[in-house]
Amino acid sequence: MRAADRAHVFHSWSAQGHIDPLPIAGAAGSWFWDHAGNRWLDFSSQLVNVNIGHQHPKLVAGIAEQAARLATVSPAFANDARAEAARLIAEVAPGDLNRVFFTNGGAEANEHAVRMARVHTGRHKVLAAYRSYHGATAGAIALTGEPRRWGSEPGTPGVVRYWGPYPYRSAFHAGSEEEESARALEHLRQTMVMEGPHTIAAVVLETVVGTNGILVPPPGYLEGVRALCDEFGVLLIADEVMAGFGRCGEWFAVDHWGVVPDLITFAKGINSGYVPLGGVVISDAVADTFRDRPYPGGLTYSGHPLACASAVVSMGVFREENILEHVRTLGEKVIGPELRALAERHPSVGDVRGLGVFWALELVRDRETREPLVPFNASGTDAAPMAEFTAACKASGLWPFVHFNRTHVVPPCTITEEEVRYGIALLDRALDVADRHT
Ligand code: PLP
Repeated sequence: MRAADRAHVFHSWSAQGHIDPLPIAGAAGSWFWDHAGNRWLDFSSQLVNVNIGHQHPKLVAGIAEQAARLATVSPAFANDARAEAARLIAEVAPGDLNRVFFTNGGAEANEHAVRMARVHTGRHKVLAAYRSYHGATAGAIALTGEPRRWGSEPGTPGVVRYWGPYPYRSAFHAGSEEEESARALEHLRQTMVMEGPHTIAAVVLETVVGTNGILVPPPGYLEGVRALCDEFGVLLIADEVMAGFGRCGEWFAVDHWGVVPDLITFAKGINSGYVPLGGVVISDAVADTFRDRPYPGGLTYSGHPLACASAVVSMGVFREENILEHVRTLGEKVIGPELRALAERHPSVGDVRGLGVFWALELVRDRETREPLVPFNASGTDAAPMAEFTAACKASGLWPFVHFNRTHVVPPCTITEEEVRYGIALLDRALDVADRHT
């Protein structure tokens, strides 16, 4: 298997001559294992998508039932799995977001949200934040505001970059969360004015920034962005591919702030990636644009029955097992306090932030100066301290999610309190390795 993989599989984001991926034999709940019987507690939820845990029997059965009944059908036909998934999503979506366009994943969802916004407004620019990830298709990578974009430049035109809030490393020299929020909003306003609001179709943002650091918006920020968008007739696209469907303890992360975007994109947690699925939830006003005028886009697998059936089952399981409340409780009572306790013991922990099952530890060489443990976009010997930390986690049976100088604590929403405490105890030991570099 290893030989076939290395000879014939072309891997994401990798130098093909330097990969040796771990072969996985099986998984259940919060755990996965290899063929030699080594087990890991999944503090990554893979790519922060297995929200319902691995191999949930109801999801596996739901997919099998749907496959036996109707495995595939063109999106030109109606099918009950797609209709029911759309109905359930509209039911939990905020405001008048009542329609769903299904895609195969998050990048495509962002592509289509931007296209809808452009046609709806008749404007072409999109404002996207630094420190964001929106996917790897042509348009989505152009929206992305981090190093993964560089290899695809110059990319598609029409994207204007702005700084979002990040209190720990404020671009605005703010002294408090409130100040950060106010200055980030003023910066966004000036960006809009200088770009010409009549040219701007949408502001796109991750409600809670995911891969680029679990940046929870400071008080008033999202509400302020919504108000700016309203003032200038610009649409607000909330990318909830990572933050949605339980990760933050709500169906949609925007629910924490009571903000209603015009378009929400989702993927990952909707069905935990058991079958690829993503989509755009669309406001009535935007949907109305396409009432008598065809939408210029479509996908062979839009609303695929297997994907939609698994979404329906997954949303049912979230309700039956009271998962949203479980996530909120874990975040507030267990993960947050335990991680803050780690920060007290380990000089390498510079910042702890997050909510629900969506947390980051930012590792530093020096707490006073906040110098990152590894430089921005480090590789090779530069990256060694984080590589050592990651290796220590994996050797102890913990699978972490590591990006630059951060480790994210992003287990499945279904993880038990006991498993969380066990995993954090393993993190505690691995942080000793990071402390040696402070
Ligand atoms: N948007 C966000 C916020 C993401 O985190 C991701 C993936 O990590 C994407 C979009 C892209 O999703 P996909 O890989 O399903 O295309």
